[in-house]
Amino acid sequence: MKIAMFDTHGYDRESFARANERFKREITYFEPRLQRSTAKLAEGHEVVCAFVNDRADAETLHTLAAGGTRLLALRSAGYNHVDLEAAAKLGIEVVRVPAYSPYAVAEHAVALVLALNRKIHRASARVREWNFSLEGLVGFDLHGKTVGIIGTGKIGQVAAGIFKGFGCRVLAYDLYPNAAFAESAGIEYVPLEVLYGSSDIVTLHAPLTPETYHMVDKGALASMKKTAFLINTSRGALIDSRALVRALKHGELAAAGLDVYEEEAGIFFQDLSNKMLEDDVLARLLSFPNVLITSHQAFMTAEALGNIADVTLENVRAFEHGELLVNAVRAESVLRASMGAKPTA
Ligand code: NAD
Repeated sequence: MKIAMFDTHGYDRESFARANERFKREITYFEPRLQRSTAKLAEGHEVVCAFVNDRADAETLHTLAAGGTRLLALRSAGYNHVDLEAAAKLGIEVVRVPAYSPYAVAEHAVALVLALNRKIHRASARVREWNFSLEGLVGFDLHGKTVGIIGTGKIGQVAAGIFKGFGCRVLAYDLYPNAAFAESAGIEYVPLEVLYGSSDIVTLHAPLTPETYHMVDKGALASMKKTAFLINTSRGALIDSRALVRALKHGELAAAGLDVYEEEAGIFFQDLSNKMLEDDVLARLLSFPNVLITSHQAFMTAEALGNIADVTLENVRAFEHGELLVNAVRAESVLRASMGAKPTA
């Protein structure tokens, strides 16, 4: 089966070339992102491999299906960028990489906290200019502070463990609280308003869903401590970026560490250093000294890239052999239909 891989960079080619020594698949690497205007490139490929800023909407999927695509293999855990209902109607299976290294993402979230708190980005720029002054570089001990974790799945749990290691009190909020984890990790589930009001650091690890879209809005930001740090390594649209700009401008939040941004598609992963930045909200965010932005790089460890390549090619192999797709993601309607079809006891 031929694989058309979109939004590829040198590091993708390297990790897939290594994994493909075992799987020996024919892979065509495309640099453009998958979207309506590029979907035709995949013609003749039964498998299309996409990443987080590719857009598999109904029209794109239609073009892929017409070109012979039967499997959409996501190189990501998140699948908010795929119209699953349309995929099901067109007979395209969707698979993902549910967990490639929760450590990579959780450690990056903590890196953002440490860098912002101890102002490493500013200190580093200063000493390069032979400015060895310490004015304005005061941070705080993480030990004894309260961290609020929203979403205690794979990544949130690892983040909780790291913050516990620093001696922090960890509060958590999840739609489905995990009592066993809370007990073993020594953390406490609280209502969202309590988490916002009590945390010195709020870190987001919930997926992007209709419920979590802009969950950190004006009201949520107003209910956080003025001294709080907000960290987002999940999906940009969990935060209302305009409300975040307003809160930072008015000193309602101490700092923000963002690895994701709601309008990142078409910006992140590219070298735009010779172009004008057209996104005014991102430009404003980049102008704050207490905001640290990375370009969706939390997953970027050797271990994670290796796992992504291995699991993606294993997903393709299982599909090709008609095996059970353990990493399939299906539309609600498909899941409901299959549950309804189950024999009742
Ligand atoms: P996961 O599925 O293991 O955990 C997600 C948790 O969020 C679950 O416990 C779930 O119950 C909870 N949740 C769902 N809806 C919620 C809501 N409305 N409110 C509160 N909690 C809710 O996922 P994970 O592997 O821990 O990944 C979390 C997210 O991290 C992914 O969805 C993805 O968007 C993001 N991610 C980012 C990067 C990166 O490079 N920045 C890499 C991988 C994953």
